[in-house]
Amino acid sequence: MAKEKLQGKIGVTTENIFPVIKQFLYSDHEIFLRELVANAVDATRKLQTLASNGEFKGELGDLKVEVELDEKKKVLRIIDHGIGMTADEVDRYINQIAFSSAGEFLEKYKDQNIIGHFGLGFYSAFMVAEKVTIESLSWQDGAKAVKWSCDGSPEYSMEDGRKSDRGTVVTLHLDKDSDEFAQKGRIGQLLSKYCKFMPVPVVFGKKTEWKDGKEVEKDEDNVINNIDPIWTKAPADLKDEDYQKFYKALYPFEEEPMFWIHLNVDYPFNLTGVLYFPKIKERMAIDRNKIQLYCNQMFVTDHVDNIVPDFLTLLHGVIDSPDIPLNVSRSYLQSDANVKKISTYITKKVADRLEEIFKEQRAQYEEKWDNLKLFIEYGMLSDEKFCERALNFALFKNTDGKYFGFEDYRKAVETQQTDKDKKVVYLYATDTETQYTQIEAAKKLGYDVLLMDCELDAHFVNLLEQKLKDTRFARVDSDSVDNLIPKADKVKPEMADDDKKKLEEMFKAALPEGAEYYVEPENLGEQSAPVLITRNEFMRRYRDMSALGGGMNFYGSMPETFDIKVNMENPLIARIWKARKDDADSAAADFAAANPQLRQVVDLALLANGLLKGKALADFIARSEELLK
Ligand code: ADP
Repeated sequence: MAKEKLQGKIGVTTENIFPVIKQFLYSDHEIFLRELVANAVDATRKLQTLASNGEFKGELGDLKVEVELDEKKKVLRIIDHGIGMTADEVDRYINQIAFSSAGEFLEKYKDQNIIGHFGLGFYSAFMVAEKVTIESLSWQDGAKAVKWSCDGSPEYSMEDGRKSDRGTVVTLHLDKDSDEFAQKGRIGQLLSKYCKFMPVPVVFGKKTEWKDGKEVEKDEDNVINNIDPIWTKAPADLKDEDYQKFYKALYPFEEEPMFWIHLNVDYPFNLTGVLYFPKIKERMAIDRNKIQLYCNQMFVTDHVDNIVPDFLTLLHGVIDSPDIPLNVSRSYLQSDANVKKISTYITKKVADRLEEIFKEQRAQYEEKWDNLKLFIEYGMLSDEKFCERALNFALFKNTDGKYFGFEDYRKAVETQQTDKDKKVVYLYATDTETQYTQIEAAKKLGYDVLLMDCELDAHFVNLLEQKLKDTRFARVDSDSVDNLIPKADKVKPEMADDDKKKLEEMFKAALPEGAEYYVEPENLGEQSAPVLITRNEFMRRYRDMSALGGGMNFYGSMPETFDIKVNMENPLIARIWKARKDDADSAAADFAAANPQLRQVVDLALLANGLLKGKALADFIARSEELLK
């Protein structure tokens, strides 16, 4: 039989497309393997479909996809037993369509950032091979085998093949720059990166075992993938252990996840997946890029930043959707309607799940709150819709370690903590150590104090003041506790302007330099402390926020300011003040130097605020000892 040999030129405009392909995807050469295995998997699935609808009546046989490597000859084969191709189909799909689409693809996305680089398909083989052959026998009755080969120039050859069993063998003769792919270890690694969940068994050699200190092959296929990962199953058929096991398989080094969400939609777009809330080991040092994106069980990327809302990139897990356009630029993705819907859907599902746990497993929820808090606060700050939902399931924690839902908290404190403007005042501390005195003072008055010690809390407090109506937040050290929740106007001490000025000078002389002080006489009762040092709530918040933002802006560059409340009703103050009036002519600094009581009350107030340090602290201790003698 005379062998017919066809020769032709592949229909592309670019004279020689291979150098372009090679260069273009330089950093991503490895994806060729995913493309070829994906084609083999597709061909196999197509055959399964034909069999299930009765069009194909023959033996299916073992439908695995095999990857074979000859390390010495540097030949890599991808073998499938799928539908195969006739000569006509090779001409249509490989010579024309595939090539022109590769050409178009390169033309269109030359300068863009491509997600996943899908779409280059079969021709990505030429990124690593100097010669590629396809041998194929179609499933169709009476089909003739075909052999196609191409050596990296636009010339290809096509002739009758010798293949006698159904399916396709793609053979790559690796080029000299691609030695890395002639190593079993490297191919194994790529298969497990890209093909781990493909829906048809992918076999790479035989399983091995250790015998007498040597690795020997067993008579068992080394299947590298799990063909039905949990996200393809119905939630009702899965147990907690299944989700945990899957998590461990994805992230062997992570701690157990806290919760998970099974995603499953088929209208108006297709999406399945499982998202996990990881345990956050170190706040802010959270690993992003832990969500893997799949398309029909084929790995695409682990950069999902434009597909899920920013705060959700803190989650781990898998999303699988054929509806996410993959061969487009990132900026295009952001504006894609489907992607927007997907992102909204995921946010909603996450909120649904959290609300469900909040309602049904409250104890566990509270137990995990400290871990969840950062995630939820970040979500509330960055996503308006999520924020509205989260108001129903976010928690407050108070300084006694008790947790409250937002509404419950309001109910719990509203009678005690409503001020004269009918605003409920939420007292909070950012540090239970340094603000200990103020927290205790507030508690003594029957007030509750929240703990807001998270990095985001400075912003979060501002957000809550907008979201919760008739609410004001005040840090316990922002004002004298008595003033935090003013029930009615207090009577200020009557003092002539001259005296006020004298009082101010006297205190400023006793206070450390480097900050600004506003000295104010007050009537706080005989029993209350002689001097209270507080910081203006808003100035402090701005400072905190600008520090968080990294830069020192206008507020950050200003000196710290403190309010100094002098309790004129306190007997000690009364005594000091009388001494000052008796010695009215001396300079303020001289008076302060000669009056250890004055310096002592000032230092005690500084000490209560954690502001007494270094030499000032040593002086205070020495003076205290002196006074005790
Ligand atoms: P894509 O897979 O994106 O369509 P490819 O260039 O990878 O693009 O492949 C082009 C076409 O060639 C496929 O759509 C398919 O019809 C055919 N093809 C490729 N590989 C195989 C194979 N192993 N078995 C059967 N047909 C194949």
